[in-house]
Amino acid sequence: MAEAYAIIPAGGSGSRMGLPLPKQFCLLAGIPLLIHTLRAFAASPVDAIIVAAPAEHLAPTRDLLARFAVPKVRAVVAGGRLRQDSVAAGLREVPSSAELIAVHDGARPLVTPALIAACLDEARRSGAAMAAIPVKDTLKAVVGGSVQRTVDRDGLWQAQTPQTARAGLLRQAFAAAAADGFVGTDEASLLERLGIQVSIVEGSERNLKVTRPEDLLVAAALLRNQTEEEKSMNEPFSLRIGHGYDAHCLVAGRDLVLGGVIVDHPKGLLGHSDADVLTHALCDALLGALGEGDIGRHFPDSDERYRGISSLKLLAEVMALAAARGLQLVNADVTVVAQKPKLAPHFPAMRSKLAAVCGVTPEAINLKASTTEKMGFAGREEGIAAHAVALLKGNGELTMENG
Ligand code: MG
Repeated sequence: MAEAYAIIPAGGSGSRMGLPLPKQFCLLAGIPLLIHTLRAFAASPVDAIIVAAPAEHLAPTRDLLARFAVPKVRAVVAGGRLRQDSVAAGLREVPSSAELIAVHDGARPLVTPALIAACLDEARRSGAAMAAIPVKDTLKAVVGGSVQRTVDRDGLWQAQTPQTARAGLLRQAFAAAAADGFVGTDEASLLERLGIQVSIVEGSERNLKVTRPEDLLVAAALLRNQTEEEKSMNEPFSLRIGHGYDAHCLVAGRDLVLGGVIVDHPKGLLGHSDADVLTHALCDALLGALGEGDIGRHFPDSDERYRGISSLKLLAEVMALAAARGLQLVNADVTVVAQKPKLAPHFPAMRSKLAAVCGVTPEAINLKASTTEKMGFAGREEGIAAHAVALLKGNGELTMENG
C-alpha cells in the first residue's frame, strides 16, 4: 500500500499574535494549536506526519508532542527561516516509498480529516491539488492609501492548505526552486512554475489560518460549535437486533403471497393469515429486536380478526409497536428458502411494499432467495421457509420491558 506523508511547517513566529511564543503553542480550547492540527492529520488517511519547527523551538515542540502523544508523528525536524525551507527540511525526511505528500500550515487547526482525504484523493488522481475557497469580498488595488481600481474577483480563489502532490512532483518542484533561487509562499506556486496543473479542492471558511489574536477567538468559537455538533452526533442511542424464522407448507388452491406480493405459482402457502412466510419472518425479527416475543403471541391463530389478513397489516402493527418505543428500522435482511418458483424478479416489488410499511427506503430491506438443492421439505417443494434479521435504532437509553 502506497504511503501518504504529511509535512506540517510549524514555524510561524508569535509576533503578529503579540506573543513571545510561536503561535503553534497558543492554546485553543485549552490545547495548543499545533496539537489540534496534528490530531486532524492523525485521524486522516495519512500514514505518517513530519513536523518542521523553528530550530530554537525544536526542543519544546518535541516535548509538546511527547506530552500529547499524537499518533503517526514520525519526526520533528528543524525548520528554516522561510516556510519553503521548513517544508524542504520535512521533505528530506520523507522516505522514497511515499506516494503522496500533503503540506499543511500548523496554524490551520480546524482542518478536517475529510478535507485532508479529499486533497489526497485529488492528488492521487490528477497529480497535485490544494484546498482553496472562492474570494467573496470585493477586492481593491490600493496605492498610497487610495483605491487605484477594483480587481475583478471572478476566478479568484484564496489558497489554503492542505496542498497535496504526488511525491515525485513535489520533490521535482522543490529541486527546481532551489536551483533557481525561487521562493514561493506556498507549495502550489512551486509546482505551477513548472507547468504542473494543481487542482482545486473546495476548502472551507472554517479552515482558517490563525495569524492574529482575533483569529484565535474565531477559531475557538468555531471549535465550540463543532464540539456541540459532535456531541449531538454522539448522543446516546440504542441498537436492538432481532432474528426471525418461519415456515409454511405449500398447498393447492391458495395464492402464494411473499413480501405482500402475489407470486404466480401452482401452489400457495397454508396459514391462518395469508401465510406470507417472508413477512412473518421479518415481523418475528422486529419483535425479537423489541424484546416482544413472537408473532404468535401478538396475532394468535385463534383470533378470527387475523383470518386471511394481509401480513403487511401485521407488519404495520409491529412497526407501530416499535414506533411507540421510539425505535426505527435501520435495515433488515431476509432469506427465503424455496426450491421454486424463481423469486428474484419479484424482489423489487416486495422491497417497495415492505419498505413503505416499515417507513424506510427499499435499500434498507435486503431480500435473498436460496434453494436447498432439493434437500429437505423446501427442496421437496413441501413448503417454504424464511429467515430474517432486523436492526432497530432508537434515541436515548432504552428501557426494554420483557413480558
Ligand atoms: Mg407464519
